[in-house]
Amino acid sequence: MNLILFGPPGAGKGTQAQRIQQKYGARQLSTGDMLRSECESGSDLGQMLKSILDAGQLVPDEVMVKLVAYAIQDDACAEGFILDGFPRTLGQAEALDEMLREIGRAIDHAIILEVDDGILLDRIRNRAAQTGGARSDDNAETLKKRLEVYHKQTKPVLPFYEKKGILRRIDGMAPMDDVTSQIDAVLGKKAAA
Ligand code: ADP
Repeated sequence: MNLILFGPPGAGKGTQAQRIQQKYGARQLSTGDMLRSECESGSDLGQMLKSILDAGQLVPDEVMVKLVAYAIQDDACAEGFILDGFPRTLGQAEALDEMLREIGRAIDHAIILEVDDGILLDRIRNRAAQTGGARSDDNAETLKKRLEVYHKQTKPVLPFYEKKGILRRIDGMAPMDDVTSQIDAVLGKKAAA
């Protein structure tokens, strides 16, 4: 089972991706986590990436597409994958489509966790407090930029999956376990079909 999880920063993609991974065996591929671990390595590439992440901007498509192509073809994704944070631009979505076609795979579901902007600032503030500010991009100023990028660049990707008939909208403002149940309903339907 191959999935994409969409949603604004703080929508809960990471939490839900982990739950799906545990239940269904598909592997979580968080591009944010991959980039942050490269940042921590202190390499030249990592330093360049950190300045992009801290500004709330997007890493160039070419870099992201290579990173994801490599991850998807790893044995860990033999039973499927859950893309968390990718694709974030139409260019990435088109490249993903092409890449999957070449290896004879396809996306089964694209799930969007819908959360109003007003709620996200509080969630990110809480996350920053709980993690002791572990993510240097979890601050009000960078969040504003991340949200703007989400609306301008990532939301326009949704019709691409809507046209394929695989986009499922979920209320990401419901309690976390309800969100999980809504996702299970989507994934379960497929299994029963
Ligand atoms: P969130 O969705 O909570 O904002 P992520 O952990 O998914 O956070 O991503 C953090 C940052 O990593 C983004 O703001 C962006 O700079 C970079 N990033 C992650 N995925 C991508 C991607 N697919 N394309 C470009 N940049 C990305």
